[in-house]
Amino acid sequence: MDKKGILIVVSGFSGSGKGTIMKELLSRYPDTYALSISATTRSPREGEVDGREYFFVSKDEFEKMIAKGELIEYAKYVENYYGTPRDYVEKKLDEGRDVILEIEIQGALNVKKMFPDTLLLFVTPPSADELKKRLVGRGTETMDVIRSRMERACEEADGMENYDYLIINDDLDRCVKEMHSIIQGEHRRSSRNCGFMKEIKEDLERMKH
Ligand code: ADP
Ligand code: 5GP
Repeated sequence: MDKKGILIVVSGFSGSGKGTIMKELLSRYPDTYALSISATTRSPREGEVDGREYFFVSKDEFEKMIAKGELIEYAKYVENYYGTPRDYVEKKLDEGRDVILEIEIQGALNVKKMFPDTLLLFVTPPSADELKKRLVGRGTETMDVIRSRMERACEEADGMENYDYLIINDDLDRCVKEMHSIIQGEHRRSSRNCGFMKEIKEDLERMKH
């Protein structure tokens, strides 16, 4: 099979459980996946570490990264900037790892335009009620920020149809297994295995004589 990694974008409403799923997927399959770490101008939440969840930078530093072409994509989300550093993504794909970008919808669509064979996955909780419960339950945002994020979820819901697969995060274990199967299935897509097909065709031709 062809060895280059797949670029995967995971989006979903804030509070849908993307972070939780990513953590679990990476701990189960550490050699298969690489999670891109974004740069952001938002402040760290309690427990977040610079260089682990995000590279936390000032607006000035962020603008310099844009100017130098160091970001594959970037977007503004509820008053803050978020962007994907280019170097890490390219390096890991070349090493044959599947690289996951956990980014919002504008960024996702930009990535798809630049790299059309990107796999787009959208994570959603089983219901809107459950989304609100999880956002409140996480306890990391004020009610004002939660309201903005619920409003943003309304806008993002309009873009769900652009994604290749919906991942319903109801039972976490089932959800992680399902995401892994979808990605591994994607490796078998014929268009991702041109090298293999060419080789077997040539071998078959040779064996005719
Ligand atoms: P996101 O990264 O999408 O903003 P998080 O991963 O921070 O979301 O999850 C939001 C909250 O929901 C967290 O408190 C998390 O523990 C909880 N959560 C995540 N997945 C599930 C699930 N399958 N069932 C119940 N609660 C969940
Ligand atoms: P949070 O503040 O909850 O960590 O993230 C807010 C939103 O920004 C989430 O939807 C997250 O997926 C998105 N995001 C994180 N990093 C990036 C990035 O590099 N680019 C884009 N476009 N969105 C990002």
